[in-house]
Amino acid sequence: MPDDSPSVPRPAAPAHSPEPAAGLRPATRAVHVGRPPVVPDAPLNTPITMAATYVGGGDVEYGRYGNPTWLAFEEALGSLEGGRALAFSSGLAAVATVLDLVADGETVVAPQHAYQGTLGQLGDAGLRGRAQGKLVDIADTAAVAAACEDAAILWIESPTNPALEVADIAAVTEAAHAAGAQVVVDNTFATPLLQRPLELGADIVLHSATKYLAGHSDALLGALVVRDDALFDVLKGRRDLLGAIPGTLEAWLALRGLRTLHLRVERAQANAVELVRRLEAHPAVSRVRYPGFGAIVAVELHAGPDAADLLCRTTDLWVFATSLGGVESTLERRRRWKTEAPTIPESLVRLSVGVEDVEDLWADLAQALDRLG
Ligand SMILES: *Cc1c(COP(=O)(O)O)cnc(C)c1O
Repeated sequence: MPDDSPSVPRPAAPAHSPEPAAGLRPATRAVHVGRPPVVPDAPLNTPITMAATYVGGGDVEYGRYGNPTWLAFEEALGSLEGGRALAFSSGLAAVATVLDLVADGETVVAPQHAYQGTLGQLGDAGLRGRAQGKLVDIADTAAVAAACEDAAILWIESPTNPALEVADIAAVTEAAHAAGAQVVVDNTFATPLLQRPLELGADIVLHSATKYLAGHSDALLGALVVRDDALFDVLKGRRDLLGAIPGTLEAWLALRGLRTLHLRVERAQANAVELVRRLEAHPAVSRVRYPGFGAIVAVELHAGPDAADLLCRTTDLWVFATSLGGVESTLERRRRWKTEAPTIPESLVRLSVGVEDVEDLWADLAQALDRLG
């Protein structure tokens, strides 16, 4: 049989058209993109393809270079963000892949408040004489623009974790590009339904798909999304070489979660808006931080850090746990982590608002807050 015989299956070759959802709105894309072709007896859902290797002579060849289940997730996420997506084993694997592009001694401008693992990688790179991190208030557009002189990368997280500051992405991106820097936006908190950084000029969008995209606190996964084909090839090349590939089951779970992203974000955000209104009126609360969108809220308490710890242990419905973006509501005092920025108040409790009934969420929070006097 000749090598290119049509009877040889090519399981990981793209089965779908490159832009299957042109003209469709985000909620419809979330439901429909990344499915097998609609032909009689085809499954509606992308199968979980467990494959370490493929019949030779095709485009993929080996399990580290591609997988049809990853591809389906990547198509769906790429369609939502408006670019081409690559999945990674975790959000931090995606962070490491981007920071690996920086040449020795180059500068990365980053928010002073950001995901601790991201700042941890930057600090580690600094200690080893790799990238030089320059931390800024990402909401201060003039300061960010000034810091971008001589920078290789402007790293944006918006809203920031856990301070919930918001960057003017379009303005700082323009300034960074004028200075010759590439722009990365960690879009984990906002999701592509509330913010699409590629449309605002950013070069790379990053996700911890562990959070809202997968949405059920049952899988770790990361992703990068870009528009530029050459940059896509570079990042794919790094993934092929370094091996930080997604688990197939995790990619499938994230795709399954993505199908209801719009419903979850809509409900969680509506719950958050209502809880913010009530929290602002509660006498135990000294400050509520909420950027006006999304479902992450931070509260500070008059009674200090011990009261914050007590709050996290006296709720019944709200689970004391780190991470965020699941269907279930969780909370934690961020400074319990030694790695959290010292400029984050000791009593700050981050709430990840889920999709439960808001009255039950409030009743539980209120009984715990009322105990603090
Ligand atoms: C969780 C998180 C990450 C890291 O992702 P993992 O999937 O946990 O590796 C990066 N950025 C933000 C904003 C996060 O919340």
